[in-house]
Amino acid sequence: MKILVAVKRVVDYNVKVRAKSDGTDVDIANVKMSINPFCEIAVEEAVRLKEKGVATEVIAVSMGPKQAQEQIRTALALGADRGILVESDEDLQPLAISKMLKALVEKESPDLVILGKQAIDADNNQTGQMLGALTGMPQGTFASEVNVEEGTVQVTREIDGGLQTVKLNTPAIITTDLRLNEPRYASLPNIMKAKKKPMETLSPADLGVDVAARVKTLSVEPPAERQAGIKVADVAELVEKLKNDAKVI
Ligand code: AMP
Repeated sequence: MKILVAVKRVVDYNVKVRAKSDGTDVDIANVKMSINPFCEIAVEEAVRLKEKGVATEVIAVSMGPKQAQEQIRTALALGADRGILVESDEDLQPLAISKMLKALVEKESPDLVILGKQAIDADNNQTGQMLGALTGMPQGTFASEVNVEEGTVQVTREIDGGLQTVKLNTPAIITTDLRLNEPRYASLPNIMKAKKKPMETLSPADLGVDVAARVKTLSVEPPAERQAGIKVADVAELVEKLKNDAKVI
């Protein structure tokens, strides 16, 4: 079984995101970038399937600037076998990403495509679903458990108030939720080995995809600053403040 894993380069989840001073976008100058955490879970799941002998090859793909090679190298250090970078400096939106993934699905014929349920930069939660619509492949989104059987995959999904288990015929799409697994850390020897693993670079034009943006960002602004809290002397003062200042009771 061949698995294609989509990994996105995003601002590291520990970094406090800042808007550019003109409010046009998020400021990523000199900011630590990493693999989107849900994509790391996707890589981990694919690598575990390989370790179980279920998968034979894991391919990590990222679309974005040249520097996205770093995130592909991390996926290779975590256990993926080879990488594909679709290099573009355009603002790549979910429709363009899913069209490129569709082209790669046609080129590579994977049995499973594993994506994160969402990228933590724009919180779109669209790419896996759009890929499903474009390819007609069945999808198990928000996976918290994955079991591969002969020609099918069983996916337990985290839904409001419970779990739902679905059975999909392969080739299929899976998007990962937080509880699917706990990704490993890349060891130093594996980071060194990853440098020798093959990485192909393509362009959107090689895949025949027009990546023109369909959605225009009008403005980006940080959340309003929270005011410092105050201490009240007693319950009477608390009630008075809730009533007259906060006006919530
Ligand atoms: P989104 O729909 O943008 O929230 O992203 C959901 C998932 O799609 C991510 O977790 C990735 O697996 C995949 N994805 C989105 N953008 C990219 C990208 N530029 N390169 C590779 N994979 C991506």
